[in-house]
Amino acid sequence: ATIAGLDEAVTGCRACDRLVAWREQVARDKRAAFADQEYWGRPVPGFGPADAALVIVGLAPAAHGANRTGRMFTGDRSGDVLYAALHEVGLASQARSTYPGDGLALYGTRITAPVRCAPPDNKPTPAERDTCQPWLERELTLLAPNLRAVVALGGFGWQSVMRVLAATGWQVPKPRPRFGHGAHAVVAPRDDHAHPRAGEVQVFGSFHVSQQNTFTGRLTPAMLRDVLSDAARAANL
Ligand code: SF4
Repeated sequence: ATIAGLDEAVTGCRACDRLVAWREQVARDKRAAFADQEYWGRPVPGFGPADAALVIVGLAPAAHGANRTGRMFTGDRSGDVLYAALHEVGLASQARSTYPGDGLALYGTRITAPVRCAPPDNKPTPAERDTCQPWLERELTLLAPNLRAVVALGGFGWQSVMRVLAATGWQVPKPRPRFGHGAHAVVAPRDDHAHPRAGEVQVFGSFHVSQQNTFTGRLTPAMLRDVLSDAARAANL
């Protein structure tokens, strides 16, 4: 199994009836408005190198962002905020991510999500969340040998990261660490961890880069940069 194989496989997933219908409906309705582009309308794979030491975990693709372009956080305002901050702290080659093929590269960093299909109102159901979790489990397992730090964007991402780490050989502290902006948890590999090279993983929490948070100033660019640079340091990037 490889990250490339996983990325390919996830794009064909049709496990959630409601989300399959929604992502395809949005693509059909909006294709005319973006006639010069291919409208993705499928599950969105992680973006970034297969040997990433830092992983950023959001919530799910946005209907007209990643669901349109096929690349995480690409093509909407949330992504503009995230990629600008990644560029400022030296983790991205460009400050903007506009479409796959725009030349953007991430350095030692991969962006992914616990739910890979755009959900209505950005709200997956608990059943959809659970159905999708094995994709993130497989991704973090493949990344485990180099993984040093995770940034969870928002409470949904944070809780997913804790569940996935607990399910894939890591010792998540009990009670589970709580989410907040600036939250930090250190997670050690269990003795039975499948990857001999796996060391501690530091998990950092940031408010999500949703427009609701960035327009209101609940999350400022400086707050995001601070979390990303702490995580980059923890990942030796
Ligand atoms: Fe498959 Fe995940 Fe999309 Fe559900 S949300 S259809 S599990 S990729």
